[in-house]
Amino acid sequence: MNHAHLFEEAQRFLAGGVNSPVRAFRSVGGAPLFAQRGSGKYLYCEDGRRMLDFCLSWGPLILGHAHPEVCAAVAAAAHNGATFGVPTRAETELAALIIAAFPSIERLRLVNSGTEAVMSALRVARGYTGRQMLLKCDGCYHGHVDALLVRAGSGVAELPQASSNGVPDALARLTISVPFNDPATFTRLIAQYHDEIAAVILEPVPGNMGLVVPDPAFLHTVRELTLRHGIVLILDEVISGFRLGYGGAQHRFGLVPDMTILGKIIGGGLPVGAFGGRKELMDCLAPVGDVYQAGTLSGNPIAVAAGLATLRWLERHPRTFTDLEHLVTQFAQQWRQHSPCTINAIGSLFSIFHTNRPVRNYADACAQDLDAFAKTYQQWLARDVFMPPAPFETAFVSIMHTPEDLQCLLVS
Ligand code: PMP
Repeated sequence: MNHAHLFEEAQRFLAGGVNSPVRAFRSVGGAPLFAQRGSGKYLYCEDGRRMLDFCLSWGPLILGHAHPEVCAAVAAAAHNGATFGVPTRAETELAALIIAAFPSIERLRLVNSGTEAVMSALRVARGYTGRQMLLKCDGCYHGHVDALLVRAGSGVAELPQASSNGVPDALARLTISVPFNDPATFTRLIAQYHDEIAAVILEPVPGNMGLVVPDPAFLHTVRELTLRHGIVLILDEVISGFRLGYGGAQHRFGLVPDMTILGKIIGGGLPVGAFGGRKELMDCLAPVGDVYQAGTLSGNPIAVAAGLATLRWLERHPRTFTDLEHLVTQFAQQWRQHSPCTINAIGSLFSIFHTNRPVRNYADACAQDLDAFAKTYQQWLARDVFMPPAPFETAFVSIMHTPEDLQCLLVS
């Protein structure tokens, strides 16, 4: 089936033809790919093509599409009933696995998306501190939470205005956004507003302005000043959790946040998010405390089964993370010999920017040549390679990818 035709049909029924904006391929042109099925590193499309997938559903599929252990776990869970509205043992098991990997988390709660996890964590931070302001970094994306659509990355980075229409000014005014990797500006704003700031939220390894590698000194400045002023530090590890390493970016950079946001990999491709942190903070939540948060399908048994299968596989194969990082690092070196375009890489993540200057923050990322990106993108598509279809995104590899697969990206 022709994708342009399918997209026209979709636009008759779905807003913009999609259920999430970047799927519309606006920044690369043409109709989106329509997936029929996935297997390992390949996405099989409705037009009969088999694409080598470096988007991997935007990160969750570290084991590739339709991994047999994940499929078996999902099937078994589905046969037992899709949802119960009472607790299950599997939810406790998933929480225990996550907490073993992230010692900064003493208690957590499962939700259905990264956005929901962020929204809930912010409420906890505000409830706990009694303060209202938030501080984030330019180009970091934390889901479509009202208060954080201020100089946000990912699909929002493509919008002409810095944030979204429909966000009340009163809420946007409560959010300060500072450049990433810039300890001086961060320090200045904390000095000015520390009494009013409930939480600092950041992607410790930003993946939504394209991939940016953090300066460890910046991360440690953030931790030091938030501790000093009783500000809740929330690390959004929706992308980096169980991907930069089993313990995420916080393990790698030796950071102990107050709260952590997880998503993507912990759901093994099904809708799961989580937020957790120090017991004292998490005890603010109902039914123990007075911060309300709830969800009919939170901790859904089928989603939890997929997450458990994925995390158990990763736990049994601890070398996965170094192997994937080796794959990506080797490729980054080759890319640098091949092209003047900047490549950022860390763990199993990488981004190619159409600029020959270093990219250390959102302003740098915005200096890339978007037309050149769109042109390169068409070359990738012509080679049956599916990269994330937007310039402010991160590419992902899975355990199924090989060095030869990465060579396919070396277009001129
Ligand atoms: N935080 C980060 C760092 C993300 O990358 C994303 C989504 N890509 C989110 C939060 C929001 O997650 P979701 O799309 O599941 O709501």
